[in-house]
Amino acid sequence: MKKILIVEDEVIIGLDIASKLSSQGYIVQVQVTTPAEALEAVGNETPDLILMDINLKADIDGIELAKIIKASHNVPCMFLTSYSDKTTLERSMDAEPYGYIIKPYNEATLMASLSTSFIRIDLEQRLIKQKTMLSNIMNNTRDSIVVIDKRGIVVTANKVFNSFVGLADATLEDIEKISGGTLSMDFINRLYSNNISDIATLRINEVDKTTLVSVSSLTDGSGDNILLTITDITEVETIKEALVEAEGLFTKIFRKKMVPAVLIRYPEMQIFEMNESFQTMYGIIKDDATSNDIKSIFGTDVTEQLEVAISADKPVNLTKVKQFNYTDQSFYAHFSGKKVSFDNSDFLLLDVTDVTEQVRIAEMEKELQHKLIHANKMTSLGTLVSGVAHEINNPNNFIMFNSSLLMEFWEDIYALLEAELGAEISVGAMPLKDFKQDVEKLIEGITNGSERIRNIVHDLKGFSKQGNFENFENVSVEEVLKTSSRILNHQISKSTENFRIDIESPLPPVYGNKQKLEQVFINLLINALEAISGKTSLVSVKAYQSEDNLIVEFQDEGLGISSENISRLTEPFYTTKQQEGGTGLGLSIVYSIVNEHNGTMDIQSVRGKGTIVKITLPLGEHSD
Ligand code: ADP
Ligand code: MG
Repeated sequence: MKKILIVEDEVIIGLDIASKLSSQGYIVQVQVTTPAEALEAVGNETPDLILMDINLKADIDGIELAKIIKASHNVPCMFLTSYSDKTTLERSMDAEPYGYIIKPYNEATLMASLSTSFIRIDLEQRLIKQKTMLSNIMNNTRDSIVVIDKRGIVVTANKVFNSFVGLADATLEDIEKISGGTLSMDFINRLYSNNISDIATLRINEVDKTTLVSVSSLTDGSGDNILLTITDITEVETIKEALVEAEGLFTKIFRKKMVPAVLIRYPEMQIFEMNESFQTMYGIIKDDATSNDIKSIFGTDVTEQLEVAISADKPVNLTKVKQFNYTDQSFYAHFSGKKVSFDNSDFLLLDVTDVTEQVRIAEMEKELQHKLIHANKMTSLGTLVSGVAHEINNPNNFIMFNSSLLMEFWEDIYALLEAELGAEISVGAMPLKDFKQDVEKLIEGITNGSERIRNIVHDLKGFSKQGNFENFENVSVEEVLKTSSRILNHQISKSTENFRIDIESPLPPVYGNKQKLEQVFINLLINALEAISGKTSLVSVKAYQSEDNLIVEFQDEGLGISSENISRLTEPFYTTKQQEGGTGLGLSIVYSIVNEHNGTMDIQSVRGKGTIVKITLPLGEHSD
């Protein structure tokens, strides 16, 4: 519903118009008689149209008032006038009126004029909207937009174009001139007729600009014009150049990088680039045709793991991976890397670090830890068994003594039974003879078991308490070795004709306990003798000095020890000679005593060939 303001100083006429308008469905906002009232009314609420009497009895007339209101509120006006002299009409043109209604008017003319005015107002508003939209588009793009006619004269241009060419307003300028001839009509026409865009270097105000020029036709009633869109890509070009430079730098840094690194193309998993350190690490000759295949460099396993990580877009982190260089020497490597993308391709950037030394140290630490735990076990065992051994010894003596008595008694009883009742009688359902054998076996079992206990207890007493330096003195190893072999003389000659003892002289003394060292040597000698199977097999003992240590080596050409059992040798009760009465305590006692002497024991053995047990004892006289 259109709102209309009526400015008419003749109240009767005003009222008449108002009632006619209302009856036709218009809203008569107010009806006023003076310019002051009119201005106030417009200020309160903007009408869609003002019906303005030209001849107001006031200091300004309707034409002046209409101009003021148009300037301040942009409200369209229709003039009401009772006369129409030429000068008044001309003057009224300045107010751009939407029509005239000549008084006296009839209703039909009034309504017809009003509706044409409203149609015009509507069209004008739509036009304004479109123009605003167009100018928004023109001025909010980052591209230069310029419309030229067929001769190359600028019809209109947006702000971007104006500032691109450094002009306040490029309208009516010749496009060839402002571009220093670089944007020629020939070039524009070529793009126009082929309907293409092209890169052009335009020289604007002495500066070269790289641009992308697009052309399209624009028919706007004033003849065929050409619409040019110019995108300044100078900056893009600069960025591109910087990128190329950065890439070059990257390659340089990559190649010179200290950490061995490799760029692998994904998903092909082919080497794209490798640096010098990497080539040195694997011993790869550059440009070798086979050097692109990562499977042949890293192995199938690693390649698969790399592929899995990269396809899940996860960082690569592989530790302690065994690798081989081209001369088949092994080393341990750490792989770390991640996916990088450039040039529309994906790559895996992989750093490979040699961690062989770290792995070696870690293994040494682990070994040391094992030794420590073992030593600890042995210490507690030593403390435990020396007490227990004593406790077991006494009752075991009873068993042994009583079981042999029992055997004697049984023999007497049997003889008596046989004499009194005859050998043919049965005990239970068993003939007396068989019964006798069974009883004897039982008693023998007791005696044997008790003997075994005695052996174990005897061996157990050899366990030394750590840090117990009682009876430590400067000991001549030569002497102890000779005593030991004298004690075993019988056993040695029974086992081999090839026994050698070779002692470097003079040998400095070691600080230790004579009896305990004797126990060590006897145990090792017995083991060697038990390992050999024929009298020609060699058993030899060597003693010599090496730096600050005294070394005693026991070598035999016996059956040897399998590698999986070597680590178990010093375990108490580990024995493969159960049947022959072995207790499995010999080597654990040796270990324990050697340890107490701050020495070490090293066992090397080849199954079927023989064994060398090497005891290292630190030298050093103690004067106490
Ligand atoms: P035992 O001799 O009572 O079995 P030890 O502790 O002395 O106990 O030895 C443990 C095991 O180590 C033996 O049973 C044997 O299998 C192995 N062994 C020790 N010394 C040798 C050796 N010189 N040659 C082959 N095997 C050996
Ligand atoms: Mg033994």
